[in-house]
Amino acid sequence: MTTLELICWAEERHKYYCELAAEFLINFDKVFNYPRFKLFASKSRYAGWAKYGEYLCEYNLSYLLAAKEDYEQTIAHEVAHFCKRQLKIGAKSHGELFMFILEDVFHCLANRYHNYQRKEEHITQAKLLLKIVELNERRNDGV
Ligand SMILES: [Zn+2]
Repeated sequence: MTTLELICWAEERHKYYCELAAEFLINFDKVFNYPRFKLFASKSRYAGWAKYGEYLCEYNLSYLLAAKEDYEQTIAHEVAHFCKRQLKIGAKSHGELFMFILEDVFHCLANRYHNYQRKEEHITQAKLLLKIVELNERRNDGV
């Protein structure tokens, strides 16, 4: 997979887990509010974030570049946070309900944390890629 294909794949997996979350919430007469997909690049040890206030799943591109398809567990993990939260059950953030969503609804391994091997070059590459995206967006805004 090229880097571009990898990024498209990640966005597609994000949508896929959002769809599973939506199907699951129908059982509780709830409509799943899809979080948006966003990439970031940093040295942060966090492979991903669920930003509830902004309805955003932020994914660390440097880990995506390093882990490739193994990064799927992080995507499922962040979407599972939104799914659990929208059930509005006061459960622990990585508690039993969260694990149930990951394992039984998303059919993923219920890993709480990632253990990816990332190199310095992945961080550099991720930062560069996002810079290019940002420049392109600015150019398009100017047209
Ligand atoms: Zn988490």
